[in-house]
Amino acid sequence: MTDTRTAAVIGAGFGGLALAIRLQSAGVTTTLFEKRDKPGGRAYVFEDEGFTFDAGPTVITDPASLRALWSLSGRTMEDYVTLLPVDPFYRLCWEDGYRFDYVNDQDVLDRQIAEKSPEDVDGYRRFLAYSQDLYREGYEKLGAVPFLRFWDMVKVAPQLIRLESHRSVYSKVAGFIKDEQLRQAFSFHSLLVGGNPFDTSSIYALIHALERQGGVWFAKGGTGALVRGMVRLFEDLGGTVKLNMPVDQIETRDERVQAVRAGGERLPVDMVASNADIVHTYSGLLSGDAHARKRADALRRKRFSMSLFVIYFGLKGHRPELKHHMVLFGPRYRELIDEIFNADHLADDFSLYLHCPSVTDDSLAPEGHSAYYVLSPVPHLGTAAIDWAVEGPKYRDRILDYLERHHIPELKDDLVTCRIFTPFDFRDELNAHLGSAFSVEPLLTQSAWFRPHNRDSAIDNLYIVGAGTHPGAGIPGVVGSAEATAGLMLADISAAKAS
Ligand SMILES: Cc1cc2nc3c(=O)[nH]c(=O)nc-3n(C[C@H](O)[C@H](O)[C@H](O)COP(=O)(O)OP(=O)(O)OC[C@H]3O[C@@H](n4cnc5c(N)ncnc54)[C@H](O)[C@@H]3O)c2cc1C
Repeated sequence: MTDTRTAAVIGAGFGGLALAIRLQSAGVTTTLFEKRDKPGGRAYVFEDEGFTFDAGPTVITDPASLRALWSLSGRTMEDYVTLLPVDPFYRLCWEDGYRFDYVNDQDVLDRQIAEKSPEDVDGYRRFLAYSQDLYREGYEKLGAVPFLRFWDMVKVAPQLIRLESHRSVYSKVAGFIKDEQLRQAFSFHSLLVGGNPFDTSSIYALIHALERQGGVWFAKGGTGALVRGMVRLFEDLGGTVKLNMPVDQIETRDERVQAVRAGGERLPVDMVASNADIVHTYSGLLSGDAHARKRADALRRKRFSMSLFVIYFGLKGHRPELKHHMVLFGPRYRELIDEIFNADHLADDFSLYLHCPSVTDDSLAPEGHSAYYVLSPVPHLGTAAIDWAVEGPKYRDRILDYLERHHIPELKDDLVTCRIFTPFDFRDELNAHLGSAFSVEPLLTQSAWFRPHNRDSAIDNLYIVGAGTHPGAGIPGVVGSAEATAGLMLADISAAKAS
Protein backbone atom coordinates (compact mmCIF):
# COMPACT_ATOMS: atom_id res chain seq x y z
CA MET A 1 0.00 0.00 0.00
CA THR A 2 1.09 3.56 -0.62
CA ASP A 3 1.22 6.09 2.20
CA THR A 4 -1.92 7.94 1.11
CA ARG A 5 -4.69 5.36 1.41
CA THR A 6 -7.31 5.30 -1.31
CA ALA A 7 -10.62 3.52 -1.28
CA ALA A 8 -13.46 3.01 -3.72
CA VAL A 9 -16.98 2.45 -2.45
CA ILE A 10 -19.35 0.95 -5.04
CA GLY A 11 -22.95 2.10 -4.53
CA ALA A 12 -24.38 5.17 -2.81
CA GLY A 13 -27.05 3.48 -0.69
CA PHE A 14 -27.23 4.36 3.00
CA GLY A 15 -24.55 1.75 3.74
CA GLY A 16 -22.17 2.98 1.02
CA LEU A 17 -22.66 6.61 2.02
CA ALA A 18 -22.15 5.94 5.73
CA LEU A 19 -18.99 3.95 4.99
CA ALA A 20 -17.63 6.61 2.62
CA ILE A 21 -18.19 9.25 5.33
CA ARG A 22 -16.41 7.13 7.93
CA LEU A 23 -13.42 6.48 5.64
CA GLN A 24 -13.09 10.07 4.47
CA SER A 25 -13.44 11.32 8.08
CA ALA A 26 -10.48 9.08 8.97
CA GLY A 27 -8.34 10.56 6.18
CA VAL A 28 -8.78 7.83 3.55
CA THR A 29 -9.18 9.38 0.09
CA THR A 30 -12.51 7.89 -0.94
CA THR A 31 -14.36 7.78 -4.27
CA LEU A 32 -18.00 6.75 -4.27
CA PHE A 33 -19.29 5.24 -7.53
CA GLU A 34 -23.04 5.16 -8.14
CA LYS A 35 -24.77 3.57 -11.11
CA ARG A 36 -27.87 5.80 -11.04
CA ASP A 37 -28.24 9.55 -11.60
CA LYS A 38 -29.01 10.19 -7.93
CA PRO A 39 -27.58 8.79 -4.69
CA GLY A 40 -29.63 6.88 -2.12
CA GLY A 41 -30.06 3.40 -3.64
CA ARG A 42 -33.36 2.12 -2.28
CA ALA A 43 -33.75 5.65 -0.88
CA TYR A 44 -33.91 7.17 -4.37
CA VAL A 45 -36.27 10.11 -5.01
CA PHE A 46 -38.84 10.40 -7.80
CA GLU A 47 -40.01 13.87 -8.77
CA ASP A 48 -43.27 13.90 -10.76
CA GLU A 49 -45.40 16.96 -11.54
CA GLY A 50 -44.28 18.91 -8.50
CA PHE A 51 -44.55 15.93 -6.11
CA THR A 52 -41.53 14.49 -4.29
CA PHE A 53 -41.70 10.76 -3.63
CA ASP A 54 -39.21 8.95 -1.44
CA ALA A 55 -38.82 5.64 -3.24
CA GLY A 56 -38.00 3.50 -0.21
CA PRO A 57 -37.19 4.07 3.47
CA THR A 58 -39.48 6.49 5.28
CA VAL A 59 -39.35 5.26 8.89
CA ILE A 60 -36.15 6.70 10.32
CA THR A 61 -35.13 5.00 13.57
CA ASP A 62 -32.04 5.19 15.77
CA PRO A 63 -31.18 8.79 14.80
CA ALA A 64 -28.12 8.53 17.10
CA SER A 65 -26.46 6.17 14.59
CA LEU A 66 -26.88 8.83 11.89
CA ARG A 67 -25.80 11.70 14.13
CA ALA A 68 -22.58 9.77 14.85
CA LEU A 69 -21.57 10.18 11.18
CA TRP A 70 -21.38 13.94 11.63
CA SER A 71 -19.77 13.76 15.08
CA LEU A 72 -16.80 11.88 13.60
CA SER A 73 -15.58 15.15 12.10
CA GLY A 74 -16.89 17.44 14.84
CA ARG A 75 -19.88 18.46 12.71
CA THR A 76 -23.56 18.55 13.61
CA MET A 77 -26.26 16.70 11.74
CA GLU A 78 -28.78 19.46 12.39
CA ASP A 79 -26.68 21.83 10.20
CA TYR A 80 -27.41 19.51 7.27
CA VAL A 81 -30.81 17.94 7.88
CA THR A 82 -33.75 18.27 10.26
CA LEU A 83 -35.50 15.23 11.67
CA LEU A 84 -39.18 15.62 12.59
CA PRO A 85 -40.86 13.32 15.13
CA VAL A 86 -43.71 11.16 13.83
CA ASP A 87 -46.70 10.51 16.07
CA PRO A 88 -48.27 8.00 16.13
CA PHE A 89 -45.37 5.86 14.96
CA TYR A 90 -47.88 3.87 12.91
CA ARG A 91 -51.63 3.51 12.68
CA LEU A 92 -52.52 -0.14 12.20
CA CYS A 93 -55.88 -0.90 10.52
CA TRP A 94 -57.79 -4.12 10.00
CA GLU A 95 -60.70 -4.79 7.66
CA ASP A 96 -63.14 -5.30 10.55
CA GLY A 97 -62.63 -1.64 11.43
CA TYR A 98 -60.27 -2.21 14.39
CA ARG A 99 -57.54 0.47 14.68
CA PHE A 100 -54.46 0.47 16.88
CA ASP A 101 -52.26 3.54 17.19
CA TYR A 102 -48.75 2.40 17.92
CA VAL A 103 -47.39 5.33 19.93
CA ASN A 104 -44.47 5.91 22.28
CA ASP A 105 -46.66 6.70 25.29
CA GLN A 106 -46.97 3.79 27.70
CA ASP A 107 -50.30 4.94 29.15
CA VAL A 108 -51.90 5.30 25.72
CA LEU A 109 -50.56 1.90 24.68
CA ASP A 110 -51.81 0.28 27.90
CA ARG A 111 -55.22 1.85 27.46
CA GLN A 112 -55.57 0.60 23.88
CA ILE A 113 -54.37 -2.89 24.80
CA ALA A 114 -56.71 -3.01 27.84
CA GLU A 115 -59.69 -2.05 25.65
CA LYS A 116 -58.87 -4.83 23.21
CA SER A 117 -57.65 -7.59 25.48
CA PRO A 118 -57.20 -6.80 29.21
CA GLU A 119 -55.08 -9.88 29.90
CA ASP A 120 -52.51 -8.68 27.33
CA VAL A 121 -51.54 -5.50 29.21
CA ASP A 122 -49.15 -7.46 31.37
CA GLY A 123 -48.09 -9.66 28.44
CA TYR A 124 -47.17 -6.57 26.42
CA ARG A 125 -45.01 -5.29 29.33
CA ARG A 126 -43.18 -8.60 29.40
CA PHE A 127 -42.77 -8.51 25.61
CA LEU A 128 -41.31 -5.00 25.83
CA ALA A 129 -38.82 -6.13 28.49
CA TYR A 130 -37.85 -9.08 26.27
CA SER A 131 -37.46 -6.80 23.25
CA GLN A 132 -35.28 -4.42 25.30
CA ASP A 133 -33.07 -7.34 26.30
CA LEU A 134 -32.73 -8.34 22.62
CA TYR A 135 -31.95 -4.74 21.73
CA ARG A 136 -29.09 -4.56 24.26
CA GLU A 137 -27.61 -7.94 23.29
CA GLY A 138 -28.34 -8.01 19.56
CA TYR A 139 -28.13 -4.37 18.53
CA GLU A 140 -26.10 -2.36 21.02
CA LYS A 141 -23.45 -5.03 21.59
CA LEU A 142 -23.33 -6.83 18.23
CA GLY A 143 -24.97 -4.60 15.60
CA ALA A 144 -21.71 -2.98 14.49
CA VAL A 145 -19.30 -5.84 15.23
CA PRO A 146 -18.08 -7.89 12.25
CA PHE A 147 -18.45 -11.67 12.58
CA LEU A 148 -15.42 -12.92 10.65
CA ARG A 149 -14.62 -16.13 12.54
CA PHE A 150 -16.85 -18.96 13.63
CA TRP A 151 -15.44 -18.37 17.12
CA ASP A 152 -17.16 -14.93 17.12
CA MET A 153 -20.45 -16.82 16.79
CA VAL A 154 -19.58 -19.39 19.45
CA LYS A 155 -18.85 -16.57 21.92
CA VAL A 156 -22.38 -15.16 21.61
CA ALA A 157 -24.13 -18.54 21.49
CA PRO A 158 -25.06 -18.57 25.22
CA GLN A 159 -26.88 -15.23 24.83
CA LEU A 160 -28.64 -16.41 21.68
CA ILE A 161 -29.79 -19.54 23.47
CA ARG A 162 -30.94 -17.60 26.55
CA LEU A 163 -32.99 -15.27 24.33
CA GLU A 164 -34.45 -18.25 22.42
CA SER A 165 -33.30 -16.81 19.12
CA HIS A 166 -34.05 -20.15 17.42
CA ARG A 167 -37.76 -19.36 17.82
CA SER A 168 -39.57 -17.11 15.36
CA VAL A 169 -40.63 -13.52 16.01
CA TYR A 170 -44.30 -14.52 15.86
CA SER A 171 -43.97 -17.50 18.19
CA LYS A 172 -42.20 -15.36 20.83
CA VAL A 173 -44.79 -12.58 20.52
CA ALA A 174 -47.58 -15.17 20.75
CA GLY A 175 -46.00 -16.45 23.98
CA PHE A 176 -46.59 -13.03 25.57
CA ILE A 177 -49.76 -11.80 23.84
CA LYS A 178 -53.04 -13.71 23.35
CA ASP A 179 -55.10 -11.47 21.05
CA GLU A 180 -54.46 -12.28 17.37
CA GLN A 181 -54.65 -8.68 16.11
CA LEU A 182 -52.26 -7.53 18.85
CA ARG A 183 -49.95 -10.43 17.94
CA GLN A 184 -49.92 -9.07 14.39
CA ALA A 185 -49.33 -5.54 15.67
CA PHE A 186 -46.19 -6.61 17.52
CA SER A 187 -44.82 -9.14 15.04
CA PHE A 188 -45.10 -7.50 11.58
CA HIS A 189 -41.91 -5.47 12.12
CA SER A 190 -39.52 -8.09 10.78
CA LEU A 191 -41.20 -7.61 7.37
CA LEU A 192 -39.65 -4.12 7.37
CA VAL A 193 -36.22 -5.72 7.03
CA GLY A 194 -37.33 -8.53 4.72
CA GLY A 195 -37.99 -11.18 7.37
CA ASN A 196 -40.98 -13.52 7.55
CA PRO A 197 -42.24 -13.17 11.16
CA PHE A 198 -43.04 -16.91 11.17
CA ASP A 199 -39.47 -17.92 10.16
CA THR A 200 -37.20 -15.09 11.16
CA SER A 201 -35.23 -15.36 14.38
CA SER A 202 -36.89 -13.73 17.36
CA ILE A 203 -33.78 -11.50 17.59
CA TYR A 204 -35.54 -9.26 15.09
CA ALA A 205 -38.22 -8.51 17.68
CA LEU A 206 -35.59 -6.01 18.92
CA ILE A 207 -36.98 -3.56 16.33
CA HIS A 208 -39.83 -2.85 18.75
CA ALA A 209 -37.43 -1.69 21.48
CA LEU A 210 -35.33 0.19 18.91
CA GLU A 211 -38.39 2.25 17.98
CA ARG A 212 -39.52 2.77 21.57
CA GLN A 213 -35.99 3.80 22.60
CA GLY A 214 -34.97 6.15 19.78
CA GLY A 215 -38.36 7.15 18.36
CA VAL A 216 -39.63 7.24 14.77
CA TRP A 217 -38.54 10.22 12.69
CA PHE A 218 -39.01 11.72 9.26
CA ALA A 219 -36.45 13.90 7.51
CA LYS A 220 -37.82 17.34 6.61
CA GLY A 221 -37.99 17.37 2.81
CA GLY A 222 -38.15 13.56 2.80
CA THR A 223 -35.61 10.78 3.25
CA GLY A 224 -33.97 12.18 0.09
CA ALA A 225 -33.01 15.27 2.12
CA LEU A 226 -31.18 13.01 4.58
CA VAL A 227 -29.37 11.34 1.68
CA ARG A 228 -28.42 14.73 0.23
CA GLY A 229 -27.20 15.80 3.69
CA MET A 230 -24.95 12.74 3.85
CA VAL A 231 -23.58 13.42 0.35
CA ARG A 232 -22.89 17.05 1.30
CA LEU A 233 -21.09 15.93 4.46
CA PHE A 234 -18.97 13.47 2.44
CA GLU A 235 -18.08 16.16 -0.12
CA ASP A 236 -17.35 18.74 2.60
CA LEU A 237 -14.87 16.21 3.99
CA GLY A 238 -13.16 16.09 0.57
CA GLY A 239 -14.74 12.90 -0.80
CA THR A 240 -15.64 12.40 -4.47
CA VAL A 241 -19.04 11.17 -5.69
CA LYS A 242 -19.36 9.86 -9.25
CA LEU A 243 -23.00 9.51 -10.32
CA ASN A 244 -24.14 7.77 -13.52
CA MET A 245 -20.99 5.71 -13.10
CA PRO A 246 -21.70 1.98 -12.79
CA VAL A 247 -18.62 -0.02 -11.89
CA ASP A 248 -18.10 -2.73 -14.50
CA GLN A 249 -15.31 -4.65 -12.85
CA ILE A 250 -13.32 -5.02 -9.67
CA GLU A 251 -9.89 -6.04 -10.91
CA THR A 252 -7.98 -8.57 -8.81
CA ARG A 253 -4.51 -10.14 -9.02
CA ASP A 254 -3.08 -12.73 -6.60
CA GLU A 255 -6.17 -12.47 -4.38
CA ARG A 256 -5.89 -8.71 -4.01
CA VAL A 257 -7.99 -5.95 -5.51
CA GLN A 258 -5.90 -3.76 -7.79
CA ALA A 259 -8.40 -1.32 -9.29
CA VAL A 260 -12.00 -0.67 -10.26
CA ARG A 261 -13.11 -0.14 -13.84
CA ALA A 262 -15.97 2.24 -14.57
CA GLY A 263 -16.96 4.43 -17.52
CA GLY A 264 -14.07 3.10 -19.60
CA GLU A 265 -11.53 4.19 -16.98
CA ARG A 266 -9.37 2.28 -14.54
CA LEU A 267 -8.92 3.63 -11.01
CA PRO A 268 -6.17 1.91 -9.01
CA VAL A 269 -7.12 1.76 -5.31
CA ASP A 270 -5.77 0.30 -2.08
CA MET A 271 -9.12 -1.08 -0.96
CA VAL A 272 -12.65 -1.55 -2.33
CA ALA A 273 -15.95 -1.87 -0.52
CA SER A 274 -19.05 -2.93 -2.40
CA ASN A 275 -22.45 -1.63 -1.36
CA ALA A 276 -23.95 -3.11 -4.52
CA ASP A 277 -26.05 -6.27 -4.35
CA ILE A 278 -23.97 -9.15 -2.97
CA VAL A 279 -24.63 -11.58 -5.86
CA HIS A 280 -24.03 -8.83 -8.44
CA THR A 281 -20.75 -8.02 -6.66
CA TYR A 282 -19.39 -11.57 -6.75
CA SER A 283 -20.87 -12.78 -10.05
CA GLY A 284 -20.86 -9.57 -12.09
CA LEU A 285 -18.10 -7.29 -10.80
CA LEU A 286 -15.65 -10.07 -9.87
CA SER A 287 -16.44 -12.47 -12.71
CA GLY A 288 -12.74 -12.66 -13.59
CA ASP A 289 -11.82 -14.08 -10.16
CA ALA A 290 -12.07 -17.85 -9.57
CA HIS A 291 -12.64 -17.54 -5.81
CA ALA A 292 -15.40 -14.97 -6.39
CA ARG A 293 -17.18 -17.22 -8.87
CA LYS A 294 -17.38 -19.94 -6.20
CA ARG A 295 -18.66 -17.41 -3.67
CA ALA A 296 -21.33 -16.34 -6.14
CA ASP A 297 -22.50 -19.95 -6.55
CA ALA A 298 -22.73 -20.33 -2.76
CA LEU A 299 -24.59 -17.02 -2.44
CA ARG A 300 -27.16 -18.04 -5.03
CA ARG A 301 -28.05 -20.99 -2.78
CA LYS A 302 -29.01 -18.65 0.07
CA ARG A 303 -32.59 -17.61 0.69
CA PHE A 304 -33.39 -14.06 -0.38
CA SER A 305 -36.03 -11.72 1.06
CA MET A 306 -39.27 -11.07 -0.73
CA SER A 307 -39.69 -8.25 -3.21
CA LEU A 308 -42.05 -5.28 -3.08
CA PHE A 309 -44.53 -3.68 -5.44
CA VAL A 310 -44.74 0.07 -4.86
CA ILE A 311 -47.14 2.72 -6.21
CA TYR A 312 -46.16 6.40 -5.85
CA PHE A 313 -49.14 8.68 -6.30
CA GLY A 314 -50.15 12.31 -5.84
CA LEU A 315 -53.67 13.52 -5.08
CA LYS A 316 -55.60 16.75 -5.21
CA GLY A 317 -56.47 17.87 -1.69
CA HIS A 318 -55.51 16.47 1.69
CA ARG A 319 -56.82 13.50 3.64
CA PRO A 320 -56.67 14.64 7.28
CA GLU A 321 -58.07 11.31 8.49
CA LEU A 322 -54.89 9.49 7.46
CA LYS A 323 -51.74 9.17 9.59
CA HIS A 324 -48.17 9.42 8.33
CA HIS A 325 -47.40 5.67 8.50
CA MET A 326 -50.27 3.22 8.10
CA VAL A 327 -50.25 -0.56 8.00
CA LEU A 328 -53.39 -1.95 6.39
CA PHE A 329 -53.80 -5.60 7.34
CA GLY A 330 -55.77 -7.72 4.87
CA PRO A 331 -58.09 -10.60 5.76
CA ARG A 332 -55.26 -13.14 6.21
CA TYR A 333 -51.92 -12.84 8.04
CA ARG A 334 -49.98 -16.10 8.36
CA GLU A 335 -51.38 -17.54 5.11
CA LEU A 336 -50.70 -14.38 3.12
CA ILE A 337 -47.12 -14.09 4.41
CA ASP A 338 -46.58 -17.75 3.57
CA GLU A 339 -47.70 -17.09 -0.01
CA ILE A 340 -45.47 -14.03 -0.31
CA PHE A 341 -42.40 -16.02 0.73
CA ASN A 342 -43.19 -19.37 -0.85
CA ALA A 343 -45.88 -19.34 -3.54
CA ASP A 344 -45.30 -19.19 -7.29
CA HIS A 345 -48.16 -16.72 -7.84
CA LEU A 346 -49.57 -13.45 -6.51
CA ALA A 347 -52.04 -13.83 -3.66
CA ASP A 348 -55.62 -12.64 -4.23
CA ASP A 349 -55.54 -10.44 -1.12
CA PHE A 350 -52.85 -8.16 0.25
CA SER A 351 -51.59 -6.33 3.33
CA LEU A 352 -50.25 -2.87 2.59
CA TYR A 353 -48.03 -0.17 4.03
CA LEU A 354 -49.36 3.29 3.16
CA HIS A 355 -47.01 6.27 3.39
CA CYS A 356 -48.68 9.67 3.78
CA PRO A 357 -45.75 12.09 4.28
CA SER A 358 -47.78 15.23 3.58
CA VAL A 359 -49.25 14.70 7.07
CA THR A 360 -45.86 15.69 8.52
CA ASP A 361 -44.31 17.79 5.76
CA ASP A 362 -46.32 19.88 3.27
CA SER A 363 -43.27 20.61 1.10
CA LEU A 364 -43.57 17.26 -0.71
CA ALA A 365 -46.60 18.16 -2.85
CA PRO A 366 -47.78 21.29 -4.66
CA GLU A 367 -50.08 23.53 -2.62
CA GLY A 368 -53.49 21.95 -2.07
CA HIS A 369 -52.15 18.47 -2.92
CA SER A 370 -50.74 15.51 -1.01
CA ALA A 371 -48.13 12.82 -1.75
CA TYR A 372 -48.38 9.07 -1.02
CA TYR A 373 -46.88 5.71 -1.65
CA VAL A 374 -48.35 2.33 -1.01
CA LEU A 375 -46.36 -0.90 -0.99
CA SER A 376 -47.34 -4.52 -1.12
CA PRO A 377 -44.84 -7.29 -0.28
CA VAL A 378 -44.75 -9.75 -3.19
CA PRO A 379 -42.72 -12.88 -4.02
CA HIS A 380 -39.28 -12.33 -5.50
CA LEU A 381 -38.58 -13.44 -9.06
CA GLY A 382 -37.05 -16.76 -8.00
CA THR A 383 -40.21 -17.69 -6.09
CA ALA A 384 -42.79 -16.50 -8.63
CA ALA A 385 -41.85 -15.89 -12.27
CA ILE A 386 -44.46 -13.15 -12.73
CA ASP A 387 -44.26 -10.98 -15.84
CA TRP A 388 -44.49 -7.63 -14.09
CA ALA A 389 -44.65 -5.72 -17.37
CA VAL A 390 -48.08 -7.32 -17.82
CA GLU A 391 -49.20 -7.88 -14.23
CA GLY A 392 -47.87 -4.59 -12.79
CA PRO A 393 -50.57 -2.25 -14.20
CA LYS A 394 -53.31 -4.77 -13.25
CA TYR A 395 -51.95 -5.14 -9.72
CA ARG A 396 -51.70 -1.34 -9.42
CA ASP A 397 -55.39 -1.01 -10.31
CA ARG A 398 -56.39 -3.70 -7.78
CA ILE A 399 -54.51 -1.91 -5.01
CA LEU A 400 -55.84 1.54 -5.90
CA ASP A 401 -59.40 0.11 -5.99
CA TYR A 402 -58.85 -1.40 -2.56
CA LEU A 403 -57.48 1.87 -1.15
CA GLU A 404 -60.41 3.78 -2.59
CA ARG A 405 -62.91 1.33 -1.09
CA HIS A 406 -61.36 1.13 2.37
CA HIS A 407 -59.27 4.22 3.11
CA ILE A 408 -59.14 6.98 0.46
CA PRO A 409 -62.59 7.73 -1.03
CA GLU A 410 -62.51 9.35 -4.48
CA LEU A 411 -58.85 8.44 -4.87
CA LYS A 412 -59.13 7.92 -8.61
CA ASP A 413 -61.02 11.19 -9.23
CA ASP A 414 -58.30 13.10 -7.38
CA LEU A 415 -55.33 11.26 -8.88
CA VAL A 416 -52.79 13.68 -10.40
CA THR A 417 -49.78 11.43 -10.89
CA CYS A 418 -48.96 7.75 -10.42
CA ARG A 419 -45.96 5.50 -11.09
CA ILE A 420 -45.09 1.95 -10.12
CA PHE A 421 -41.88 0.15 -9.10
CA THR A 422 -41.93 -3.63 -9.51
CA PRO A 423 -39.59 -6.56 -8.77
CA PHE A 424 -38.29 -6.05 -12.35
CA ASP A 425 -37.16 -2.55 -11.31
CA PHE A 426 -35.41 -3.87 -8.20
CA ARG A 427 -33.57 -6.27 -10.50
CA ASP A 428 -32.83 -3.87 -13.36
CA GLU A 429 -32.40 -0.51 -11.61
CA LEU A 430 -30.67 -1.73 -8.45
CA ASN A 431 -29.03 -4.93 -9.77
CA ALA A 432 -30.87 -6.76 -6.98
CA HIS A 433 -30.60 -10.57 -7.19
CA LEU A 434 -34.07 -12.01 -7.98
CA GLY A 435 -35.45 -8.50 -7.49
CA SER A 436 -35.24 -8.96 -3.71
CA ALA A 437 -36.03 -5.76 -1.82
CA PHE A 438 -33.89 -6.56 1.24
CA SER A 439 -31.12 -8.92 0.01
CA VAL A 440 -30.23 -12.08 2.00
CA GLU A 441 -33.24 -13.15 4.12
CA PRO A 442 -32.66 -12.50 7.84
CA LEU A 443 -32.90 -16.09 9.09
CA LEU A 444 -30.83 -17.23 12.08
CA THR A 445 -28.92 -19.51 9.69
CA GLN A 446 -28.11 -16.47 7.51
CA SER A 447 -27.27 -13.99 10.30
CA ALA A 448 -24.06 -12.84 12.01
CA TRP A 449 -21.21 -15.25 11.05
CA PHE A 450 -23.58 -17.10 8.69
CA ARG A 451 -24.20 -13.89 6.71
CA PRO A 452 -21.78 -12.76 3.96
CA HIS A 453 -18.87 -11.24 5.90
CA ASN A 454 -17.94 -7.55 6.02
CA ARG A 455 -14.49 -8.51 4.67
CA ASP A 456 -13.99 -11.17 2.05
CA SER A 457 -12.28 -14.28 3.38
CA ALA A 458 -9.82 -14.65 0.48
CA ILE A 459 -9.49 -11.25 -1.21
CA ASP A 460 -8.33 -9.39 1.86
CA ASN A 461 -8.67 -5.79 0.61
CA LEU A 462 -12.27 -6.40 -0.55
CA TYR A 463 -15.05 -5.41 1.83
CA ILE A 464 -18.84 -5.53 1.80
CA VAL A 465 -21.26 -2.98 3.24
CA GLY A 466 -25.06 -2.74 3.20
CA ALA A 467 -28.04 -5.04 3.47
CA GLY A 468 -26.25 -8.16 2.19
CA THR A 469 -23.71 -8.28 5.01
CA HIS A 470 -23.84 -8.17 8.82
CA PRO A 471 -26.05 -7.07 10.50
CA GLY A 472 -28.54 -6.69 7.60
CA ALA A 473 -31.21 -4.54 5.99
CA GLY A 474 -32.94 -1.39 7.23
CA ILE A 475 -31.25 1.97 7.71
CA PRO A 476 -29.99 1.19 11.24
CA GLY A 477 -28.73 -2.16 9.93
CA VAL A 478 -26.79 -0.85 6.96
CA VAL A 479 -25.45 2.14 8.93
CA GLY A 480 -24.28 -0.42 11.53
CA SER A 481 -22.68 -2.47 8.73
CA ALA A 482 -20.77 0.66 7.67
CA GLU A 483 -19.39 1.00 11.20
CA ALA A 484 -18.35 -2.66 11.24
CA THR A 485 -16.77 -2.49 7.78
CA ALA A 486 -15.02 0.85 8.40
CA GLY A 487 -13.61 -0.58 11.64
CA LEU A 488 -12.07 -3.46 9.67
CA MET A 489 -10.73 -1.23 6.89
CA LEU A 490 -9.14 1.25 9.27
CA ALA A 491 -7.67 -1.54 11.40
CA ASP A 492 -6.23 -3.12 8.23
CA ILE A 493 -4.64 0.22 7.28
CA SER A 494 -3.09 0.54 10.74
CA ALA A 495 -1.81 -3.04 10.59
CA ALA A 496 -0.29 -2.43 7.14
CA LYS A 497 1.42 0.74 8.37
CA ALA A 498 2.84 -1.05 11.41
CA SER A 499 4.26 -3.93 9.34
C1 LIG B 1 -39.73 0.33 -0.53
C2 LIG B 1 -38.80 0.17 0.65
C3 LIG B 1 -39.14 0.73 1.86
C4 LIG B 1 -38.27 0.63 2.95
N1 LIG B 1 -38.60 1.24 4.13
C5 LIG B 1 -37.69 1.30 5.13
C6 LIG B 1 -37.92 2.12 6.25
O1 LIG B 1 -38.96 2.79 6.33
N2 LIG B 1 -36.96 2.19 7.21
C7 LIG B 1 -35.79 1.48 7.11
O2 LIG B 1 -34.94 1.59 8.01
N3 LIG B 1 -35.54 0.69 6.04
C8 LIG B 1 -36.45 0.60 5.05
N4 LIG B 1 -36.20 -0.15 3.93
C9 LIG B 1 -34.94 -0.92 3.86
C10 LIG B 1 -33.77 0.00 3.52
O3 LIG B 1 -34.17 0.96 2.60
C11 LIG B 1 -32.62 -0.77 2.91
O4 LIG B 1 -32.31 -1.94 3.66
C12 LIG B 1 -31.36 0.08 2.81
O5 LIG B 1 -31.64 1.38 2.36
C13 LIG B 1 -30.39 -0.60 1.88
O6 LIG B 1 -29.20 0.16 1.85
P1 LIG B 1 -27.88 -0.41 1.23
O7 LIG B 1 -26.75 0.33 1.85
O8 LIG B 1 -27.82 -1.90 1.34
O9 LIG B 1 -27.86 0.01 -0.29
P2 LIG B 1 -28.94 0.12 -1.46
O10 LIG B 1 -29.97 1.10 -1.09
O11 LIG B 1 -29.33 -1.22 -1.89
O12 LIG B 1 -28.01 0.81 -2.56
C14 LIG B 1 -27.07 0.10 -3.31
C15 LIG B 1 -26.61 1.03 -4.42
O13 LIG B 1 -25.65 0.35 -5.24
C16 LIG B 1 -25.84 0.82 -6.57
N5 LIG B 1 -25.20 -0.10 -7.50
C17 LIG B 1 -25.59 -1.36 -7.83
N6 LIG B 1 -24.71 -1.88 -8.71
C18 LIG B 1 -23.76 -0.94 -8.94
C19 LIG B 1 -22.59 -0.89 -9.74
N7 LIG B 1 -22.21 -1.93 -10.50
N8 LIG B 1 -21.85 0.24 -9.73
C20 LIG B 1 -22.21 1.31 -8.98
N9 LIG B 1 -23.32 1.31 -8.20
C21 LIG B 1 -24.07 0.20 -8.17
C22 LIG B 1 -27.34 0.87 -6.71
O14 LIG B 1 -27.73 1.71 -7.79
C23 LIG B 1 -27.73 1.48 -5.35
O15 LIG B 1 -27.74 2.88 -5.40
C24 LIG B 1 -37.05 -0.09 2.82
C25 LIG B 1 -36.72 -0.68 1.60
C26 LIG B 1 -37.58 -0.55 0.52
C27 LIG B 1 -37.18 -1.17 -0.79
